[in-house]
Amino acid sequence: MAHVTADTSRCIGAGRCVSIAPEIFDQTDSGSVMVIHASPERDEVDLVFEAVDLCPARALSVSDD
Ligand code: SF4
Repeated sequence: MAHVTADTSRCIGAGRCVSIAPEIFDQTDSGSVMVIHASPERDEVDLVFEAVDLCPARALSVSDD
């Protein structure tokens, strides 16, 4: 199962991850990323990989084990 993590110390609050995968990511009031669903379903994994690739701060990672 995939597992999503976010490094909030790198996040610049661009919100791209939330736009791409709103079921997985949210942002705090200050803009920092929150992982709200760390174990995405199979049909959500492609979106997670897209968000990881497009995060401008390289703050997201996903493992598939
Ligand atoms: S896309 Fe990256 S920088 Fe933007 S909110 Fe998400 S984790 Fe933070």
